[in-house]
Order: sequence, then C-alpha cells, then structure tokens
Amino acid sequence: MVQTTCPYCGVGCGITAEVNQHTVTIKGDKTHPANFGRLCSKGAALADTLDLNDRLLYPELHHQRVSWETALTKVANEFKRIIREHGANAIAFYVSGQLLTEDYYVANKLMKGFLGTANIDTNSRLCMASSVAGHKRAFGSDTVSGCYEDLELADLVVLVGSNLAWCHPVLYQRLAAAKEQRPRLKIVVIDPRYTATSDIADLHLPIRSGTDVWLFNGLLNFLRTHDHLDYEFLEAHTHGAGAALKSARESAATIPQIAQLCGLTEMDVAEFYRLFAKTDKTVTVYSQGVNQSSAGTDKVNSIINCHLATGRIGKPGATPFSVTGQPNAMGGREVGALANQLVAHLDFKPEHLALVQQFWQSPVIAQQPGLKAVELYDAIVAGQIKAIWIMATNPVVSLPHADKVKQALGMCELVVVSDCVRYTDTTEFAHVLLPALAWGEKEGTVTNSERRISRQRAFLPVPGDAKPDWWIITEVARRLGFAETAFAYQSSADIFREYAALSGEQNKGTRDFDISGLANLSDADYQRLSPVQWPLKSPTEVGTTRLFSDYQFFTADNKAHLIAIMPRAPVHLPNRDYPFILNTGRTRDQWHTMTRTGKSARLLSHTSESYVEIHPQDAGLLRIQVGDLVTVSSELGQVVVRVKISDHQQPGNVFIPMHWNGQNSSQARVGALIPPVTDPISGQPEFKHTPVKVERY
Ligand code: SF4
Repeated sequence: MVQTTCPYCGVGCGITAEVNQHTVTIKGDKTHPANFGRLCSKGAALADTLDLNDRLLYPELHHQRVSWETALTKVANEFKRIIREHGANAIAFYVSGQLLTEDYYVANKLMKGFLGTANIDTNSRLCMASSVAGHKRAFGSDTVSGCYEDLELADLVVLVGSNLAWCHPVLYQRLAAAKEQRPRLKIVVIDPRYTATSDIADLHLPIRSGTDVWLFNGLLNFLRTHDHLDYEFLEAHTHGAGAALKSARESAATIPQIAQLCGLTEMDVAEFYRLFAKTDKTVTVYSQGVNQSSAGTDKVNSIINCHLATGRIGKPGATPFSVTGQPNAMGGREVGALANQLVAHLDFKPEHLALVQQFWQSPVIAQQPGLKAVELYDAIVAGQIKAIWIMATNPVVSLPHADKVKQALGMCELVVVSDCVRYTDTTEFAHVLLPALAWGEKEGTVTNSERRISRQRAFLPVPGDAKPDWWIITEVARRLGFAETAFAYQSSADIFREYAALSGEQNKGTRDFDISGLANLSDADYQRLSPVQWPLKSPTEVGTTRLFSDYQFFTADNKAHLIAIMPRAPVHLPNRDYPFILNTGRTRDQWHTMTRTGKSARLLSHTSESYVEIHPQDAGLLRIQVGDLVTVSSELGQVVVRVKISDHQQPGNVFIPMHWNGQNSSQARVGALIPPVTDPISGQPEFKHTPVKVERY
C-alpha cells in the first residue's frame, strides 16, 4: 500500500493506492490531515483513469517516434539557434499546476537563472493570480494565513465566488459535517448562481455578476458606522485604514444603494452585514468567482480589508482564505513559476536577484518580470516569441481567446509539449512531443490550499519511455551547455533539498516561505515525509498551522495594508447584440480539459456532454426547450451545446462548463468565446463575464 496525494484539486487529499496484479484500489488516507479518509467522486474514480490508452509513451519529432537523444538534442539545438538569432526572450515556457514542485522548480531555475528570461508562466495564472496579488498588497507576501480547520472552528463561513461542493468537495464535506454538529455555525454563499454549495447556506446572496467590491466596500462602511471596527488592531498592526474607509464610504454608502447595485434585496444585504458584524469567528473563503475578473485583485483586497478592519486574521476560526484550483497551484507560487515572481516567494528586487543568482551560481538571471499567460501568446502572434515549451497543460482549450492560442502555436518556429497524454488540442501543434510520467508513476511533492506539503508517490511501473518532468528539463539544460553541477540531480529528493535550502537563505523571518527545516532530509526521510504545513525553519519544528498569529506581516514595517478601492464594472457588458452574461466553471465530476476524468465512464455519467444552463424566463423568450441544441456566440467565436433550463441561473445569465475540448466535442470549446481581458495587476483573465447571444441551432 502506497500513501500518495490526489492529483486533482487544491484540497490535496491523501490517498492510499494498493496494486494487486491487474487492479488498483484507491481509498482515502485516514491519516492525512486534509481529508481524514474522505474522497470525492473524482478522487474515488482515480483507478478508472490509469490505463495506458491515449498515453504519450515515446518521444516524437513531427509526430514520428524518435529516441530521447534525438528529441532532446533537437529541442536544445533549436533553443540555441533561436537565442542566437533573437535573444533569450524569444523563448517561453508555459507550465502547470499539475507539475510537482520539483519539476516546477527546475523549469523555473532553467528559465530565470540560466536562460536569463522570465518568460515562464503557469496555467495557475488562470485560477489564483488575483489572490497572489491581493495577498502581496495586503500582507507584503503571498500568504494564505489560515487552514482547513478554521472553517470548522468558525461561527460564520462566507463563501464568495466558490462552489465548494463541486470544486473543493472534501473541504465542503468537512464544512457540512461541522455545520451538522454545530448548527449555530452560519454559512453565507455569495454567488450569482444557486449552486450545490447553496444547499447548506443559511443565506444565499445571488449577487449581480461583477459587483463584489460594492458589496464588501459596503460591508466595510457598515462595520464603521455600526462601531464594529477593531481600532486597537488597526492602529497597532495596519496602515491605510483611513483611505480604505473613505473609498468604502464613497463607493456606496447605504444598504439600499448597495442592494440596488448588487441586484440583491435590502433585507439580504442587511442580514449578511449583521451576521458578519456580530461574528468574531468569521472565515471568508474566496475562489475563482473572485479571482477570474478584470478587478480580481481589488475584489480580494476588498474582502481582506473587512478582515483587517475587524482584526479577524491569524486566529482560530477567523481568517480570509483563498482556495486554489489545482493540486499544486500553491507549489507553483512557491517556486516562482509565475512570470512576475522569483523562487521561494522572492521578488524582482536587486537583493533578491543577487541572492538567487549566488545560490544557483548561475551565469545570468532574468532582471525583470516576464510575460503573463495571455500576454505570452499575444507575443507569439506579434513575432516576439519564436519557441514555446508547454508542460502538462492544454492551453488551446483552457486559455481565453482559445482560437488565438491555436493561431499562435501555428506561428511558432518550435512548439515543444511534454505531457503524459498523446492526443490533446495542444499536442496537435507540437513539433516535439516528450512523454512525461503520470500520476501514480512520478515522485515528488505538492502543496495544497492550506500550505500543506504532501508527497505524491509512485505505485505503478514506468510505461514506455516516459520520464519525470524534472529529468526532461535537466537533460535539455545539460544539452544547452549549462554547468553539470547546476543540473546534476539524480532524484526528486535532490531537487527538494536544494529548494528547501534556498528558501532559508538570508531569510531569518523576513519572508513567509521558509522550509529550510527540510533541507537535510535523507532520501529515506524524503520518501517517508509526512504532510506538513510551511513554514518549517528547523528540523525540530512540526510545521505551522496558522500564520499572522503574532500580527507580524511581511511588509517593511511588519504592518498589514488596507487598500483603498473604488469599484469598477467588468470590461465587457451585455449589449443589444450580445445580451447574456456567460459564466464558466467546473462540473462536479470533471477535471480541467477532461484528459484524465474523461476516461471514467462513471464520471461521465454525471454529465456526459457540454451544455448551457439558462433561466426558464429566457428560455421561454428564446422558445427553446430542455435538450435543444443552441449556438452560444460571443464576438470571438461560438459553441454548439445542449440546453438545460434552471432557475438556479439568474435571468440574463448563462453558464457553460469549462471542460469540453476539441477532441471529445468539436464545438464545445468554451475558451474560444472568452475575450482576453485581464486584471491589470494580476494578469488573470475575466472568465466570468462574457457577453454572448443564444440562438437555436
Ligand atoms: Fe481529489 Fe479534490 Fe476530490 Fe480531494 S476533494 S479527492 S483533492 S478532487
């Protein structure tokens, strides 16, 4: 029996895998502190997805099988040529929250520290970049201060833009169990849709899409006018309260104004404000509904402002709490796989650059942030980037303006894709395909939404010629001529030790991320590493449940910052030609672009094809029935999907799942509809507010 970690969402559930001749039995790991044995439908069906059908098992050049030597030499030689002709910024890496931390670290090291460009970004840009930016503005660091237990300890849990029941199901199960045991725990769900999560809500606020800042600025103002601010905390531990309160007052002062702006009843707004004001132990959970917005960073800070103003942070059951989408989105943040970060939560500051370059003994280091995901593909179309290496992700389906991504890949001089899946919308464009190990075959670590580092362990034999991602990157680095010593790893444990040591370099509590207590793990210690929450600064520590319990933030003067925010509407509003607002998101049983979960018949049986969900009133006006095919179009493209009619949608709003791809449903790739509008600070795309029209097919 092998203990490992689920490869799907950011809850990071522990799993036990038992291999008996031809079968694998997957169970929840009762000893793992994220799930205590629970699993959701996706995790429980993992055994259905482990066959080798559709696996990429051998390197390919122009879709012909070749040796590793040929493939790796081709990649290295082409990179050298392009760098010689156009400079290092003509190369880009687009990586993934599916990668393990060790893979992520080596990719980032090669790009930033040896090629000298920061044009490496991750698909995590699509799910949580606004939370990163919001945390850094408020705390001086990308710190998730709380933990899952806080949801169980709280007296009020506010879920904003989060369908926790489907997107973080085991965390939802924990919350539901806590509420059953302790009915006085109140739950407020703030979401334009009535979702499965709304079923346990004491109050559901069906907010008008894109108006969250008005609601939270209104809350901040309410807290002030009803004398619920913690002035002692504000004075001792924060800056910026005066300006933030002024903005809150000016954006919308009264409950009737806020209710009107947010499309809510005055009674519901007042009830939410009263609940928040009177409940010290409040956790506010936010997810893609907040982050995936052209004002995502402001939305995050408007929430954090309310917690700082009431001193509700760093305490059991009282914290703002961002939940991430992918199994290792947090690991990507930690290793600096976002184009605007350095490794170990360091920034593009001269002293940090010097520290990292010195540690890596690298010949060069990227001096400034690189291009973020959407910009990166635009730069290919503009002819600035000539080569891209895509690892473990499917941007032709998942990025906004997905047809432009197709165009971009078609224009590249070199497209390298390393993946475990042979046929995706993205592998179609690859000149070089590099077979990577899949879940169950690879070794490494992931970090979940509560900063808990867990091991993924191998329990299956290596199929074909597949290799670990870190090995593939390392072999390319060697062929690029970089010092053997810099990429001399023999195992993921070697990489982890180096990374852990770097996190402690000249840190001494000046940064949040420090796992130097794990820097001297032996191979055997690494193999048996138990789940642990960072920071962990010495081998004798047991990890850190909560941060900011001492109210020391990672800013220059250790004070947190409230941010003055004026609300603004989404960039594209519905109009006469495109009268509906399209919202996209996950379904209960599918994961990302379905390359794994799509293999499970029982998961597909929940929702076997894509759909558009529409309010009965709108369906009536369009004269469409349940099961009809309709065309949903934006200014950029169209999909053809089946109709579901539900009053869980608001009139004027429609919802389409994000999962379906060009391989399993040629006309349901919803990314093709989404404009490439991004948050100006975080670069995160606005996936929740696309004007569309709906017509009979
Ligand atoms: Fe996997 Fe997330 Fe389900 Fe846990 S909740 S089993 S991590 S998909």
